[in-house]
Amino acid sequence: MARGSILVVGGGIGGLAAAIAVQQKGFDTTVVELHPDVRSSVHGVGIIQPMNALRALDMIGCAQDCIAAGYPARRWGGLYSTDGTFIKEMPGTPVPGVDLPPMNGLTRPKLHAILTSHALEAGVTLRYSTTFTELEDDGAGVDVTFTDGSAGRFDVVVGADGVHSRTRGHVVEGEVAPSYIGQSAYRVNIPLLPEIDSIILQAGPAGMAGLVPIGKDLAYLFYNAHMAKQSPGSGMDSAGKLREYLAPFGGLMGRIRDEFVTDDRDIVLRPEESLIVDAPWHRSRVVLMGDAVHAITPHLGQGAAQAIEDGVVLADCLDGHDDPEAAFAEYTDRRFERCKLVVDTSLDIAEWEMGRKPGFDNIAATDHVLEVMAQPL
Ligand SMILES: Cc1cc2nc3c(=O)[nH]c(=O)nc-3n(C[C@H](O)[C@H](O)[C@H](O)COP(=O)(O)OP(=O)(O)OC[C@H]3O[C@@H](n4cnc5c(N)ncnc54)[C@H](O)[C@@H]3O)c2cc1C
Repeated sequence: MARGSILVVGGGIGGLAAAIAVQQKGFDTTVVELHPDVRSSVHGVGIIQPMNALRALDMIGCAQDCIAAGYPARRWGGLYSTDGTFIKEMPGTPVPGVDLPPMNGLTRPKLHAILTSHALEAGVTLRYSTTFTELEDDGAGVDVTFTDGSAGRFDVVVGADGVHSRTRGHVVEGEVAPSYIGQSAYRVNIPLLPEIDSIILQAGPAGMAGLVPIGKDLAYLFYNAHMAKQSPGSGMDSAGKLREYLAPFGGLMGRIRDEFVTDDRDIVLRPEESLIVDAPWHRSRVVLMGDAVHAITPHLGQGAAQAIEDGVVLADCLDGHDDPEAAFAEYTDRRFERCKLVVDTSLDIAEWEMGRKPGFDNIAATDHVLEVMAQPL
C-alpha cells in the first residue's frame, strides 16, 4: 500500500507491536489508548513469552530487550504430580535457524515499557487518555473524531482494543461477545527459587497450578480455578481462597503456598474469556487484531504471542499490497487457522482441567501447538 497514515485503537501488547511494525514499514502511525499512561493498561503480574512470541518480537527489534529484562529458560517446562513427583520433561520446539530460548518469562510492566520505548523511538505518536467517538469509513479513508474533540483522517484503522473491543462493532455484524469459560486465574508474584528454572506445572485434582520465572529474582505462581465469574472488586480473602485451592498440593507448590500465599493485596484474579471471530476480520478500511478477534485463555501462554504475530503479519501484508482490502484478506488468511488452533486447544485444556474431558492428553496437545507455532508465520 502507498505509505499513508494508520490509527491503532488500543495501546496494549498487540496494538504497540502492530504500531512498531507498521511504522517500521514507513506508515505514519498513531496509537490512542484509553488509559492515562504507559503502565495503566498493564494488568497482572508476569507473562510467558513462548519462542514464537520472541521470533515475532525479534522481527520488530524487541526480543533481545525482553530477554535481557526477563528470564530466558533453557526448556519450556516440566510436569509434576499433585504431590510434586516429576512426571515429564517439556523441552519446547526449536525454530530452525532461530537462536532464541524456548521460553522467556517477563513482568508485564517491563514488556509494556520495552514496547512503548521502541514505538516512540520508531516515531509512533502515542496519545493516552484518548479514544474515538466516531469512525466514518467512506472506502477511501476513515474520518475519526476523538474524545478530546480533535479529528483526523486515516488510511487505515486497526482495532487492537482487546476482548471487549468497541472497534469490533465497525467490522462485525450483530452481537459478538466473549464467553466466560468457567475458570479464573489466580496469580501472585513470589521470589525466584532455584527449582523454578522454566514453567513448572503441577496438575491438581480440580485445576492446574504453575510456576513461571520472570526475572533474575522473581517468579509467579498461577492457579486456574474452576469457579463462577466474580464481580469486579470481590477479591476478599483472595489469599485464603487460593490457599484452599492449593491445599491438595505437596512438593514445591505446597512449600510456596505455605510461605508466600499470605497477602490478599498481592493476588490478581482474572476471569478467563474465549472468543474467535469468523473471518473476515476487516470491513473496508477497518481491521481487527489480538484479543478483539481471538481472545485466548492462558493455558498455552499464547494470547499475547498471537497478538504480536498479528501485528507483524499485518504490517507485512500492508507492505505487500496497494489495496488495503487485499492486504487484510491475506492477513486473515495467514492468521485465522493458526489463531483458531490456539483458541480451541486452550479451551480443550481448560475442559480437561475442569474434569469435562477425561483421557485428554494435555501434554501432547501442548507439544502439537508448539510444533505448529514453530512453523513460519
Ligand atoms: C490470566 C491471564 C494470563 C495470561 N497469560 C498470558 C501469557 O502468559 N502469555 C501470553 O502470550 N498471553 C497471556 N494472556 C493473554 C494476553 O494477556 C492477551 O491475549 C493479550 O494481552 C492481548 O493483547 P491485545 O493487545 O489484543 O489486548 P489488551 O492487552 O487487552 O490491550 C488492549 C488495549 O486497548 C485499550 N483499549 C480498550 N478499549 C479501548 C478504546 N475504546 N480506545 C482506546 N484504547 C482502548 C486497553 O486499555 C488496552 O491497553 C493471558 C490472559 C489472561 C486472562
